[in-house]
Amino acid sequence: MGRVVVAGSINMDVVATAERHPRVGETVAGQSVMYFPGGKGANQAVAAAKLGVPTTLIGRLGRDAFGEQLRAFLAAHGIDLTAVKDSTGASTGTAIITLAKADNTIVVIAGANAEVGADDVAQVVLTPGDVAVSQFEIPQPTISAFFQRAKAAGATTILNPAPASAFDSALFALVDILVLNETELGFLAGIELGDAPTPQQVTDAVRELKPRPDQTVCVTLGARGAVAVTNGDAKLIEGRAVKAVDTTGAGDCFVGALAARLSQGAAMADAIGYANAAASISVQRMGAGPSMPSAEEVRAWL
Ligand code: ADP
Repeated sequence: MGRVVVAGSINMDVVATAERHPRVGETVAGQSVMYFPGGKGANQAVAAAKLGVPTTLIGRLGRDAFGEQLRAFLAAHGIDLTAVKDSTGASTGTAIITLAKADNTIVVIAGANAEVGADDVAQVVLTPGDVAVSQFEIPQPTISAFFQRAKAAGATTILNPAPASAFDSALFALVDILVLNETELGFLAGIELGDAPTPQQVTDAVRELKPRPDQTVCVTLGARGAVAVTNGDAKLIEGRAVKAVDTTGAGDCFVGALAARLSQGAAMADAIGYANAAASISVQRMGAGPSMPSAEEVRAWL
């Protein structure tokens, strides 16, 4: 049995609600302010840890109140934080979200996340059977260094290229499984995919990424499930029919659960079905971290 090792972002999401958004230069009275632990790295680590898998997070926090709160939150989930270092000067990563009716505006400050470097990933010794996971909220050279170490150790690598940004073929060459949503796929393939692309359109777009036969590209399609393409062979994993109340963190739950299941030695098809089931549970509850299911819940639902 391996571990899940996530190198990624840790943020505090500060959500202010108001009747309407202020115009430039204007102040409006809001209704409430809420604080949610977030960041794709932290969310994916929480998802894996809640599923009962040994999980290590590599990241950075500011020496501030948010940093202390996030460290306590992640430790309470049993995540190994020995490779989460304090920044000397930067603030903890923060997302300032203003929510008025259903519309939001978001300002993200990377802060300490921008400082996660090759030295940080070098602190964790990976072994065969481990699953190394990363996303694009830390610098890409760090992800390359992390995945190089992972591949040299015989570990499996999962890249979630979110938020969508271009990356070079040298990084893609180190990836075993690419997990992305249809928006990110459209961006990377340079194709306008629209709101509800067919599995065939998704498969055609995946071909544009030119994956090697041994790489799997898994495209999440929200309520419709996911399409996994390996060696040109596409499999549709049907979405589970549920009443979704909040899809925040659904993609992170999918990635964390996929990594967790693979670290337990599961085959790819089994792990993708498991991730799809776990994510469909998470959308039935509010928030990101708090919505991630336990192993018992997923087992009962499969
Ligand atoms: P992202 O949050 O990255 O945009 P998606 O919206 O594609 O990711 O969702 C990720 C996964 O979460 C889906 O592949 C599916 O397994 C699950 N999911 C998301 N929305 C729903 C829904 N409304 N009903 C059931 N499952 C869902």
